[in-house]
Amino acid sequence: LSGSISRALQQMSNATIIDEKVLNECLNEITRALLKADVHFDLVKKMQINIKKIVNLDDLAAGHNKRRIIQQAIFNELCNMLDTGKPSFTPKKGKTSVIMFVGLQGSGKTTTCTKYAYYHQKKGWKPALVCADTFRAGAFDQLKQNATKAKIPFYGSYMESDPVKIAVEGVERFKKENCDLIIVDTSGRHQQEAALFEEMRQLAEATKPDLVIFVMDSSIGQAAFSQAQAFNRSVSVGAVIVTKTEGAAKGGGALSAVAATKSPVIFLGTGEHMDEFEVFDVKPFVSRLLGMGDWSGFMDKIHEVVPMDQQPELLQKLSEGNFTLRIMYEQFQNILNMGPIGQVFSMLPGFSAELMPKGREKESQAKIKRYMTMMDSMTNEELDSTNPKLMNESRIMRIARGSGRQVRDVMEMLEEYKRLAKIWSKMKGLKIPKKGDMSAL
Ligand code: GDP
Ligand code: MG
Repeated sequence: LSGSISRALQQMSNATIIDEKVLNECLNEITRALLKADVHFDLVKKMQINIKKIVNLDDLAAGHNKRRIIQQAIFNELCNMLDTGKPSFTPKKGKTSVIMFVGLQGSGKTTTCTKYAYYHQKKGWKPALVCADTFRAGAFDQLKQNATKAKIPFYGSYMESDPVKIAVEGVERFKKENCDLIIVDTSGRHQQEAALFEEMRQLAEATKPDLVIFVMDSSIGQAAFSQAQAFNRSVSVGAVIVTKTEGAAKGGGALSAVAATKSPVIFLGTGEHMDEFEVFDVKPFVSRLLGMGDWSGFMDKIHEVVPMDQQPELLQKLSEGNFTLRIMYEQFQNILNMGPIGQVFSMLPGFSAELMPKGREKESQAKIKRYMTMMDSMTNEELDSTNPKLMNESRIMRIARGSGRQVRDVMEMLEEYKRLAKIWSKMKGLKIPKKGDMSAL
């Protein structure tokens, strides 16, 4: 995708006269690229119309950076398509929520159920898994294996063939056990068929889920729209998770699923393992889709708001890729001060969606302050280390005591650090632009 789009933009940049015709040619080229990336036809069409409305021919003719203007317009349009404007139902720790997973067979439901449970468990939740897939032989074994590995309670049966009965029993049992996140894994079929949708409808009616998550394999292509729509018609889908996004996935299907269900994407599956699971973040996703790299939005912002003379030092730190607890502390400070650099960091993948979700700023600030208090009880050696093994049990106990927090609070903060360090490691080797050389980006 990136190749064809940048080629189209380049051609237009090279044109001496930009008129309606040149712009149209460029947009047609981009349209073809987006279709190839599995963005649904109607969406591409809509985008084309919007871009023509936004992009002003006079601006393009007046020697502004044409490539940048159009690229920005496409970027914004795609972001708008993924941003439904309303967050999905968010479960609350300590309060029971029932979450039902739906999707075709092989889309990654069972794997994603466990990832979702594991993700929350690490943050101190009490999740539980219910296997309501009685259609596929071996379904219960698979869930059981996953759940056992992650030490998550599970419920299912080898004998019972009625999925509704199992689901209801499982949900009841875990409600009694005060689990706060009861996850119901359902069966799929290889194809969309009436029996599947009827089963989903009955399951939803019986278990009354607070949230239905539609799980979609990123490689299903143009079929994404009708598939998401079909599920949404039988059960009201509230959120989407796209799986297998780590490979050469085209990703356009995510836009279709959002359009068909009017629900946001909340997580991405990025591998077969339990922890290959990321909170979905619109801007980095679109950057990747357009081949602009995860960091391009961030780099743009940095140029906008950080004074030129401060950039080398900041960028140097980023490019070394050694993400210490001290750097995390400093970034937290920036965020709390919310000066210009704070805003920049809120754009970083990982910092924005997960640490500071929209509409929960107060909670996020309290969390960041809590993390900082714990880091205040760390030694310089600990703050400057890039070796997580250093943080053994006795150190964690000492930090908890020193800051008047629980051991699990310190663990949570360290988990957060590991998550950010993993994201930041991708920044290593970043080319640092010389003063005044913005075109390099
Ligand atoms: P279900 O039929 O919808 O329950 O799908 P499963 O959870 O059984 O997954 C089907 C296959 O996809 C399994 O081999 C999983 O390991 C694999 N899988 C699921 N999510 C991902 C992912 O994010 N990346 C990759 N590479 N494989 C995945
Ligand atoms: Mg399954």
